[in-house]
Amino acid sequence: MKKEQRKDEDLRIGVFICDCGSNIAGHLDCSSVTDYAATLPGVVYTKENLYTCSESGIHEIQDAIKKHNLNRVVVASCSPRTHFPLFSSSCAQAGMNPYLFEMVNIRDQCSWVHMGQRGIATAKAKDLVRMGVAKSAGLEPQQEIESSLIRKILVIGGGIAGLSAAQALRGMGLEVLLVEQENELGGLLRQLNVLDDGSSAADQVAALAARVCAADGITVRTGATVAAINGYIGNFTATIEHEGQQHEETVGCIVVATGAIPLLEAGLLGHNGTSVITQMELEQRLKQGPLQASRIVMIQCAGSRNEEREYCSRICCATAVKNAMLIKRAMPLANVRILYRDMQMYGDVKEKMLWDARGLGVGFEVYDADKEIQVRDGSVVFHQAVLGETKELPCDLVVLATPLVPRPESATVAGLMRVPTDKNGFFLEAHAKLRPLDFAADGIFVCGSARFPATSVEARTQGIGVAARVAAILFKDKLIKSAIVAQVDETSCVGCMGCLNVCPYEAIKYDSKKRVCVVQEILCKGCGNCAATCPSHSIILRGYRPEQLLAQIRAL
Ligand code: SF4
Ligand code: SF4
Ligand code: SF4
Repeated sequence: MKKEQRKDEDLRIGVFICDCGSNIAGHLDCSSVTDYAATLPGVVYTKENLYTCSESGIHEIQDAIKKHNLNRVVVASCSPRTHFPLFSSSCAQAGMNPYLFEMVNIRDQCSWVHMGQRGIATAKAKDLVRMGVAKSAGLEPQQEIESSLIRKILVIGGGIAGLSAAQALRGMGLEVLLVEQENELGGLLRQLNVLDDGSSAADQVAALAARVCAADGITVRTGATVAAINGYIGNFTATIEHEGQQHEETVGCIVVATGAIPLLEAGLLGHNGTSVITQMELEQRLKQGPLQASRIVMIQCAGSRNEEREYCSRICCATAVKNAMLIKRAMPLANVRILYRDMQMYGDVKEKMLWDARGLGVGFEVYDADKEIQVRDGSVVFHQAVLGETKELPCDLVVLATPLVPRPESATVAGLMRVPTDKNGFFLEAHAKLRPLDFAADGIFVCGSARFPATSVEARTQGIGVAARVAAILFKDKLIKSAIVAQVDETSCVGCMGCLNVCPYEAIKYDSKKRVCVVQEILCKGCGNCAATCPSHSIILRGYRPEQLLAQIRAL
């Protein structure tokens, strides 16, 4: 049970200085910093640890809290971004309110930036510790914010990614509402011919769609769209338009799996839909039967990796190689050439496909992207980059590898949920490496080609991955959120809405009756933009009150 912290109780601050092996202690005098910390006002206990984040380091903090009745803890070690949660939760386990913990970064800000300057690094570490202790003295205990959770998920999009997410979520016992704007499930895969392994793409996705439709606990709405989204993580309200009617659904999380579409640009490299077609159009022709052409030239990066679309669409090279091999297997005497800039064949399976294609007699020619490719009636003229000469290839079919581009309605969907898209119009995840399936907005996730062009395997994997992210939230009894949120003093707020306009999470609303702004705590991410903007200091960020920050600055 947590001890109640009274505002007026005597300060009993414990300061822990981390050596980080020799990472910190090798570049500054940690013993001297520890001795110095003991002289600071309110500090009753200090300890130098070899590794503060190790099990023994954590136990030392927890034992000291109990033994010395500490009511504030300061750790001087590395980045709070990585270690703050570990230390504050460890303090909470020992009975201290976690919001009475403060952290100082003497590794990045002292030992790393002042390497070889031991005296300067040590003096700066003392300054930072003094500031941290001063701030900790003004910290107040806080209560975490709790909210209920609805164990139902809205999946927007019924392609391979959305279907996979729905199936995986249901497999974990969660209720799913899947909304697809088309009248049929399956997305792009429905239109493809075969997958890399030779199996029918349409059959595979149809089988998955059938399983999803048959599952208890999954409601599928085809020919339906999302008209509005309101609320927050755990408690969203979605307005669904279906068969001319609108109805509301409450869900705990949202998965965006709206997919992408292949670029179809009239006139691009002579595209005419007959003798110059896209890879997607080729897929449909191959589905219908043998190809009526024996000299085929495929042109990679058609409409991509240019000024308008700088990105590589990732899936087109493998698609071209797959289709070239299909043609060669069906018509060994066909002349199939792939003009490329560089072949993007991800992973050993696709790398092997490339070698197999060469073995089947598919020709590969690298073209100079700075020189225009001319698609003529019966031939393609290009500049061969390796030979450094212009070549003309006679052909009776040209196939363009055009990129996947965002669906036209992506911007509308993004607007409904107030989530960002990148400069190409694909949905933008919170962090490409650390949170690749999350949006910055809590409780909303993205998977498949809506995020960026993905193979069917990747889209399926991402759909399953998203389900795991959702489950990690919805399997908790309730949502517990950090207490570090903004707070408005209604007695001094003049309702100028300056704070409302700078909040990136739309967590502030204007109360027209009271003529003040109010913070929806559950949406607030504690960024502090509002507090920095308010001209009358009427909005503050808990844990970062002006007087707390000023105490820190004055200690310098
Ligand atoms: S707390 Fe940070 S500085 Fe200390 S040992 Fe761990 S990683 Fe190193
Ligand atoms: S900026 Fe300050 S005064 Fe203006 S509405 Fe927000 S809290 Fe009120
Ligand atoms: S702290 Fe940031 S997220 Fe919270 S209300 Fe202020 S601006 Fe919005």
